Amino acid sequence: MTYSIPFNKPYIPQEKYNVFEEVFKIGKFSGNGKFTTLCHEFFEKKYSFNKCLLTTSCSDALEMCAILADIKSGDEIIIPSFNFVSSANAFELRGGKVVFADTNTDDPNINIDEIEKKITSKTKAVVIVHYAGMSCDMKKLKKITKKYNLLLIEDAAHAIDSFYIENRKKVPLGRFGDLATFSFHETKNINSGEGGMLVINNKNFIKRAEIIWEKGTNRKAFFRGEVNKYEWVDIGSSFLPSEITAAFLYSNLLEMDLIQNKRIKIFNKYYEGLRDLERMGMIVLPKLKDYQFVNGHIFYFLTKSKNETTKILDFLKSNGVDAAFHYQCLHSSQYYLKNNKKESLINSEKFSDQLIRLPLYFDLSENEINYIVKVIEDAYLKN
Ligand SMILES: *Cc1c(COP(=O)(O)O)cnc(C)c1O
Repeated sequence: MTYSIPFNKPYIPQEKYNVFEEVFKIGKFSGNGKFTTLCHEFFEKKYSFNKCLLTTSCSDALEMCAILADIKSGDEIIIPSFNFVSSANAFELRGGKVVFADTNTDDPNINIDEIEKKITSKTKAVVIVHYAGMSCDMKKLKKITKKYNLLLIEDAAHAIDSFYIENRKKVPLGRFGDLATFSFHETKNINSGEGGMLVINNKNFIKRAEIIWEKGTNRKAFFRGEVNKYEWVDIGSSFLPSEITAAFLYSNLLEMDLIQNKRIKIFNKYYEGLRDLERMGMIVLPKLKDYQFVNGHIFYFLTKSKNETTKILDFLKSNGVDAAFHYQCLHSSQYYLKNNKKESLINSEKFSDQLIRLPLYFDLSENEINYIVKVIEDAYLKN
């Protein structure tokens, strides 16, 4: 049997037609209607997020964070280098300067001791990513951001329905930061094609966030009857998605448990399947810490070198499996090196060179997972 297995297939909800029929019946397609509200309520209720605003992407939610943080020229923002470009872009766009902290040695999350070393009098905020939905050490991190009075922003793009375990209780990721952002891009667990969300846990930001969200106007307050005309009151942009996007997102949310259970099952099956190779010292599997409860967003393993990564990816490809490496470190990107000196962040570089992500999506079958595991075994044991 030959297979052709893509890296990702976006989930298609079973009940999608009901929501679209309702949007068409209501006849309001622009943003902030019934389905936007339903999505906000879903998240606020399920995860006790203080206030949610859907956005057109996670990148846009991060741009809202940079505006809310009042980033001015020269302000420094500490972010991981092993990261997507969006959290860097958002702050650079406002004249801020991103400062990179290295990751941990044994997982791709930002190293909290490294954050502390990079703090200066100009540091305004710390942005963290919960890589693969694996929580950062939030207790340790909150201590640092409190001690230095820094804004904490969680880029929770990978982390929907992931948890930090604190005193045996599961606390949802996205609830720790003053602000947190999610992505509903089609590569994420819950998708609306393109889409995102800003979570505002720190009450002080709510009023201004609503204004920035609606192009810098107080339109939201106007519709609530709090002011008698609406006008330009601040900077902002059109950050809100259409009701068509929100309705599609909502149809995904209604099937969330189904999606999450399946993804976690696939994650566990890969883990079991690849254990022997790890025991033989061929590969390294992710090591979950006792405070991490993961959502099956990414399954990855580590090779021993960049050269080996390329070889394994090529071997998988020639056997019909589309696997992928992940981020190219931002500190060695073309854009960053235009204005900055080359620095060395050895752990970030390691994950860039040695991390392989395997296909992980709802429709992936058991036979396909077994096949992928077999191909990887062949790559290591027969070559
Ligand atoms: C996907 C992703 C983003 C960007 O999300 P969009 O919704 O596509 O803008 C930002 N940060 C991280 C860590 C991501 O994985």
